[in-house]
Amino acid sequence: PSSSGARVALVTGASAGFGAAITRRMVAAGYRVVAAARRVERLDALRAELGDAVHPVALDVRDAEAVHAVVAGLPEDLAALDVVVGNAGLALGMGPAQEASWADWEQMIDTNVRGLAATVHAVLPGMVARRRGHVVVMGSVAGTYPYPGGHVYGGSKAFAHQLALALRSDLHGTGVRVTTIEAGMVAGTEFSRIRFGGDESRVEATYRDMQPLTAEDIAETVAWVTSQPPHVNVNVVEVMPTTQSFAPFQVHRG
Ligand code: NDP
Repeated sequence: PSSSGARVALVTGASAGFGAAITRRMVAAGYRVVAAARRVERLDALRAELGDAVHPVALDVRDAEAVHAVVAGLPEDLAALDVVVGNAGLALGMGPAQEASWADWEQMIDTNVRGLAATVHAVLPGMVARRRGHVVVMGSVAGTYPYPGGHVYGGSKAFAHQLALALRSDLHGTGVRVTTIEAGMVAGTEFSRIRFGGDESRVEATYRDMQPLTAEDIAETVAWVTSQPPHVNVNVVEVMPTTQSFAPFQVHRG
């Protein structure tokens, strides 16, 4: 908690999509939010919108040293993090693995795997020392269910899922909680625009004639898991639009 008594959350990837919605929702719940992302002007806009409960921090999570420096250098009244949402992440491309660019794979690994690991690594010692805290990891249904073109993105989200479960073992008895949130299709964020390299027709086609989840639905999930009483740890939340489900395996014949 901060000196004002407000609980403190760190949200990575707060400049857009889930992260911005989570920041709004956490501020509404009375948190002070350290909002981190590369596009600091977006974070400044969030502060202008939400007031000084938002503390913008320029951060590229691919830079593990910078992640550690941000956590170590938080002003005293924001240093005792109650909640950390490891949300910064992205998918690049959806073509077959054999046609993917190495640069895209590297950026997904550096952001979704390395960046998440650095975030968790930077915050755990403080949480354990304070014997309180909640790490919320943004996984995806892509970490559980393979789909064509999911390859490294799905692999990176499987890492998030398994890291979070493993943390539960190591944090046993510390009082520190860990939750993974694994969403299906969520529209209204920049996710698909980035995945499809700005091709608006593919973004539109992805969500055509169906009702996807919204970033606010995810923010509500974060608010729910983090507002449970201290004896309750929600391990994993998997959430999909009602209009999204599963289909049979494909079989190649001939
Ligand atoms: P957006 O593209 O809207 O937001 C992604 C956020 O991550 C932005 O704030 C971006 O900020 C930040 N980010 C990306 N790279 C970095 C980096 N290197 N360092 C710091 N911040 C970074 O996507 P969503 O809100 O939709 O996605 C948020 C998370 O949820 C991701 O981890 C995504 O994989 C996951 N997810 C999304 C789903 C969806 O359908 N939308 C479904 C399931 C999971 P900036 O560019 O300013 O750095």
